Amino acid sequence: MDNYSRMKELVDLLNKYASLYYEQDAPVVSDAEYDALYDELRRLEESEGYSLKNSPTHRVGGAPQKKFEQSKHLRRLYSLDKCQSIEEFYEWCARTEKVVSPLPTLTAEYKFDGLTLNLLYDNGKLVQATTRGDGVTGEIVTAQVRTISKLPREIEYKGKIEIQGEGILRLSNFNKYNLTAVEPLKNARNGVAGAIRNLNPAVTAERNISFFAYNVGYSDKTFETQKDIRDFLIEQGFETEGDFALVGTREEIEEYINRAEKMRGGLDYLIDGLVFKVNNLAYRDELGYTEKFPKWAIAYKFKADEMTTTLNDVVWQVSRSAKLNPLAVLEPVDIGGVTVKKATLNNYGDILRKNVKIGDRVFIRRSNDVIPEIMGVAETYDHSKQVEKPTVCPACGAPVKEVGAFLYCTGEHCAPQVISALDHFASKDAMDIEGFSEKTAEQFYNEIGLRTLVDLMNLKPEDMFGLEGFGDKKISNLIGSIEKSKKTTADRFLYALGVDGIGKKTAKDLIKRFRTLKNLAEATEDELASVDGIGGILAKNIVDYFSDEGNRKLVADLLESGIILEEKEEIDGALKGLKFVLTGSLPTLKRGEATLLIEQNGGEVASSVSKTVDIVLAGEDAGSKLQKAEKLGIKIISEDEFLSMIGK
Ligand code: NAD
Repeated sequence: MDNYSRMKELVDLLNKYASLYYEQDAPVVSDAEYDALYDELRRLEESEGYSLKNSPTHRVGGAPQKKFEQSKHLRRLYSLDKCQSIEEFYEWCARTEKVVSPLPTLTAEYKFDGLTLNLLYDNGKLVQATTRGDGVTGEIVTAQVRTISKLPREIEYKGKIEIQGEGILRLSNFNKYNLTAVEPLKNARNGVAGAIRNLNPAVTAERNISFFAYNVGYSDKTFETQKDIRDFLIEQGFETEGDFALVGTREEIEEYINRAEKMRGGLDYLIDGLVFKVNNLAYRDELGYTEKFPKWAIAYKFKADEMTTTLNDVVWQVSRSAKLNPLAVLEPVDIGGVTVKKATLNNYGDILRKNVKIGDRVFIRRSNDVIPEIMGVAETYDHSKQVEKPTVCPACGAPVKEVGAFLYCTGEHCAPQVISALDHFASKDAMDIEGFSEKTAEQFYNEIGLRTLVDLMNLKPEDMFGLEGFGDKKISNLIGSIEKSKKTTADRFLYALGVDGIGKKTAKDLIKRFRTLKNLAEATEDELASVDGIGGILAKNIVDYFSDEGNRKLVADLLESGIILEEKEEIDGALKGLKFVLTGSLPTLKRGEATLLIEQNGGEVASSVSKTVDIVLAGEDAGSKLQKAEKLGIKIISEDEFLSMIGK
């Protein structure tokens, strides 16, 4: 294909994608795929020395939609020039230095990935909110933007002023929304764009949007630097997130980039890069603008964490708790330098809600070293096939039972289930049976018919005679390890049982609260849910587990095999069942002494104030914990009152 034809093809394709992205908030390719095509077009335009009239390289964003009323911005909004490597960034620095030398101080900020908004305040009041649109004219979305709870409706500054920033859907709100949404959002960026560019503000309100301010557009007030603008925005009460910094040297720039790359995964909002801007506004006039972006700023784009690829198959894997987990088999795709071949689809309900079919092109997100996840469908085809719900377990052929959104194998001794349950039970943080690995579990399952945790604990040397790799010494070592493991703690044993949702920390917290396994097994849902970090679903799970006849027998048989649990017996003291928080310095008791007295009298000490705390024991200089306790109406007592409670 000649260059002209390829340019024409790219322009058409990019315009189609841009319209779906900007105008309908329904992209069909990832940003990384769009950017790769855009860069190819830009390179061709450069080498050919011309560009086509409707090329996206001349344009900011998308056309404002007719369904919204429109308004001209008082000052134009632009896109940003972009680079993807430190070398390209330094090329930009060199270009800047040709105009302003030496390189002036830059501001470094996060590049928030949401929807650009331009807010007009007059006489201190929010009078209008618009999208960026094509940079000159935007869509009026005032009613939608008014649903942003933290946005100041009134500001101290009374002049006419445009405040620019990004509408953001925090990831915590995105995840919460997706948990129950009939149609889950594919990513937080589309989530916010769809929420705001929506004619019904009630829909916007449901999604809990935030606004992060980063710039002033039109204003009667003059500013000298970007830093002044940022300080002004904070003073006026706007939310300004991101690690704002001034950087001058290469070391400072590179340190900032490294820091941000590390922080990125832990943030509660999406950023797709960083923005560096010349801090001194006077230099900006010298540097000027292209038709698309200011020459005084550049976005440093991060490696992609989202791509699209084909879903080739869905296979079902059985977990140790008998759950059938769907695993997506993908056409291998590079996401930010890592080849991804598999992704999770969570459960059958998730497949239905996302309406994912085999053969579809799907959005995959890989962030923060977690298992890549299918977020939704990019494109579906006539040849795409529905994912079939298994009726029998793929490993053992036993019938499958459906509980809520999940499917379970009902087979009693299904190999992958038994092997992973044995492996988990014996693992280091659980019973810690040295010398018993997943491989051993598999070998014992296949060769000596080991089927249950009780079988493992009752294993005899003669059971292993003749097994490949098991000489006398190895056999006696393993028997020794099993015996040694039998003296353990209640929390380790609880974790070893592999109850769904009980990890190491939860097991510890539960035993700390209920002291013995017996108490825990008898706890009600309400009592369980009152433990910090235990939600209603997990509480029900635990109650269900311990009310199951088979599980109760399993626990009894395991204990019968000789397992001894080190447990703290409940103390029937004056403070039984009461949860305390200590704050400030007490007149005579040291913190450790007070804790000991509480525990000796049957009470419990928590580190932070929450609704589940009964009493706050406060001394002098008590700070925020006391305030929180007052707010929650929790009983607050002095040392004297405390001592009289325990009869001292
Ligand atoms: P951009 O959105 O990448 O960058 C400009 C925007 O950055 C500004 O409008 C501003 O709102 C925002 N921004 C965030 N934080 C900022 C800060 N601290 N300071 C200043 N600005 C900040 O640029 P663009 O040219 O409007 O859009 C291109 C982007 O859209 C690319 O990432 C592209 O991949 C994506 N896109 C994707 C598709 C698709 O189909 N997936 C289609 C079109 C465009």
